[in-house]
Amino acid sequence: MAVAECNVIVVGAGNAAFCAALAAREAGASVLMLERAPYDENGGNSRFTAGAFRVAYDGVEDLQAIMPDLTEDEISNTDFGTYTTDQFFDDMFRVTRFRTDPELCERLVRRSFEGLTWLHDMGVRFVPIYGRQAFKIDGKFKFWGGLTVESWGGGPGLVDRQTEIAKRMGIDIRYGARVVDLIFDGHKVAGVRVKSDGALHDVRGDSVVLASGGFESNPEWRTRYLGPGWELAKVRGTRFNTGDGIRMALDIGASPYGNWSGCHAVGWDYNAPEFGDLTVGDNFQKHSYPWGLLVNARGRRFVDEGADFRNYTYAKYGREVLNQPDQFAWQIFDRKVTHLLRDEYRIKRVTKVTANTLEELAAKLEGVDPAGFLAEIAAYNDAVDTDTPFDPNIKDGRATHGLAMPKSNWANRIDEPPFEAYQITCGITFTFGGLRIDPDTGQVIDTDMAPIPGLYAAGELVGGIFCFNYPGGTGLMSGTVFGRIAGIGAAARRT
Ligand SMILES: Cc1cc2nc3c(=O)[nH]c(=O)nc-3n(C[C@H](O)[C@H](O)[C@H](O)COP(=O)(O)OP(=O)(O)OC[C@H]3O[C@@H](n4cnc5c(N)ncnc54)[C@H](O)[C@@H]3O)c2cc1C
Repeated sequence: MAVAECNVIVVGAGNAAFCAALAAREAGASVLMLERAPYDENGGNSRFTAGAFRVAYDGVEDLQAIMPDLTEDEISNTDFGTYTTDQFFDDMFRVTRFRTDPELCERLVRRSFEGLTWLHDMGVRFVPIYGRQAFKIDGKFKFWGGLTVESWGGGPGLVDRQTEIAKRMGIDIRYGARVVDLIFDGHKVAGVRVKSDGALHDVRGDSVVLASGGFESNPEWRTRYLGPGWELAKVRGTRFNTGDGIRMALDIGASPYGNWSGCHAVGWDYNAPEFGDLTVGDNFQKHSYPWGLLVNARGRRFVDEGADFRNYTYAKYGREVLNQPDQFAWQIFDRKVTHLLRDEYRIKRVTKVTANTLEELAAKLEGVDPAGFLAEIAAYNDAVDTDTPFDPNIKDGRATHGLAMPKSNWANRIDEPPFEAYQITCGITFTFGGLRIDPDTGQVIDTDMAPIPGLYAAGELVGGIFCFNYPGGTGLMSGTVFGRIAGIGAAARRT
């Protein structure tokens, strides 16, 4: 692999890597990106996303800075509300149970808006997420979950645009180039060892930014760190995030940090393949459970489906599904709510049954005890408070009463045929544990708590930001904020 020496080497070519590369290039550095995947599988997990970005904003005027194409009609027919930095902080603190690193969280939240305007100014286009994050009530759309903005064309649109911009700015991107080691003299990092075209090559640079994802696609590490059973999870995204970057940094003394036994994992089609499939993208997910019920092999409910808006529960409920007998669950809906189901329920590759009676449905739910299921539905139906009106745009308080496992919002009786059921298992998205970084420079910190000269990190492999759970749309935002910080930090080291 012939490459010219460069200032900054970026490992990976997902969103965090592109943000680091673009920021470093903007700061005047020459940049080389090394991506393990072949070109036709490029983009990492970022390509698999819907492109949803969680960003703090004070009103529609702020959103217009990111989405100048918003029309007058869209503005007058939509309640975008606000998502202030305080709301973002509250969400991060609540879902991580105050375990998020305060310094990292502070940078993430306070720099989210400038991060997105920077990406917009670089040439990435954003649009409102009408499809999945807003319901139309009385002729007006209302965003309900703090998540308003997505990249045009979703994850593929984002990565393709970033690739175009990077190339236009003169950034060299090599695919099929797996970084296997860091060149380290015991004090500083001065490049990487790359496997490409069946040979090993040393590539030298003033600094290296690791942006090569977590270890979600490595079943051995999943079992080792997340715990027994995690080897059985399906991987929602790229097959290439096997923890290489984390391993290389730990090998030279980097400090592990964050929630190493934690991850983002969701309900995912039971028959989905082992790794993500780019022709399906994120559509194996099944995220409309707040409008229905989840039952396990015994026919029993095991989570409060209406505990909160789905943006705040979906990332932790995958683990709950993995913990059920035979690692599966069925989602149950009746006619009252099927019009609310997200687009991912209407794809061809879906594990679905329908029935006109509950008894017929019980017989069709593969792996489920029919008597247990019918008894559970009967007890649930009796417990629903039908006096409180159902409203999907707010936490409506329409709850069950007297159940050991309550449903706290959006509780409707399951009694109007046709009934629909969808079988899911656990799909892992990304791991939470990773490397410790300096929040202001992105520099990787070693186990003596000293920065490692020449080594920076961003994206999934940064530990300390998420713990136990995660507010939807924060992964891309984190990659943008910390990618940009790492890129600027790495460029400042050029000789
Ligand atoms: C199905 C799905 C939907 C999602 N939806 C959203 C969403 O809408 N909004 C959101 O915020 N987040 C979403 N996420 C999470 C989001 O994808 C991640 O948080 C984010 O994309 C991570 O970015 P990254 O750049 O750190 O990692 P990635 O985008 O995964 O990039 C890492 C890259 O590093 C490469 N790599 C790995 N090892 C090496 C090596 N040794 N050498 C060279 N390259 C290497 C990989 O091939 C990969 O291209 C979703 C994830 C999935 C799987």
